[in-house]
Amino acid sequence: MTWLLALDIDGTLAPIAGTPSDALVPDTVLADLRCLAARADVHLVFLTGRDGASAFRLVPIAQATFAPEHGACIYAPGELQSWLAQGAKAPPLGPVLLEWEARCNPPAGAIIERKTTALALHTRQLEPECASSALDAAAELAAGLGLAVLRGRGVVEVAERLASKRDALASIAAAIQPSRLSYIGDDTTDIEALLWVQRQGGEAYFVCSSERPTSPHPDLPTLSAIESVWAWVHAHARAPDA
Ligand SMILES: [Mg+2]
Repeated sequence: MTWLLALDIDGTLAPIAGTPSDALVPDTVLADLRCLAARADVHLVFLTGRDGASAFRLVPIAQATFAPEHGACIYAPGELQSWLAQGAKAPPLGPVLLEWEARCNPPAGAIIERKTTALALHTRQLEPECASSALDAAAELAAGLGLAVLRGRGVVEVAERLASKRDALASIAAAIQPSRLSYIGDDTTDIEALLWVQRQGGEAYFVCSSERPTSPHPDLPTLSAIESVWAWVHAHARAPDA
């Protein structure tokens, strides 16, 4: 049996923090993830909006596949660690993205994060009303420049082309041909991938939070909070016959 187990990171394994650099996955959860990655029957995938370097900082597990930036890049086991060891030189961002960055002018307390293929405006440290108008303005500016826009929890991401977690997961699954497929995620950017997994006969869970206490789709089962994901990971960390 090959079990393709894909997990989002922020809001799924790491509690949402004020800034992306403050987020952490608890050590006990990391230990369980390492057990999963070491299982011969498990192919562990981290599917995240983060860039590769910050994803690997949160879950430094070389045996896993990483699909950072919503799957814009896919690193087979060992590849991300090796790319980071070589200095992680990415191609420069294009001129339209740089223009968006120069004109975005976010309010104090908001953060613009630079990724390999995209820029993201984070507004978690702003009052809700101010955050909402900053996100709207950033999205409107990006759309006017012809950039693709992706909205998540307290974040607007802009890129020249939009990657999709569903497409990334579909291409990883096509390569692995798993007999079991699972995905857990907590945000609007996970919904298409979760529904796709379900259509393949896999198990998909949306992680509820105080911000989004119910399932965003009538067909999607939920885990009630991030602690439920940690318990689920712990229950599956060791092989059934171990
Ligand atoms: Mg998330």
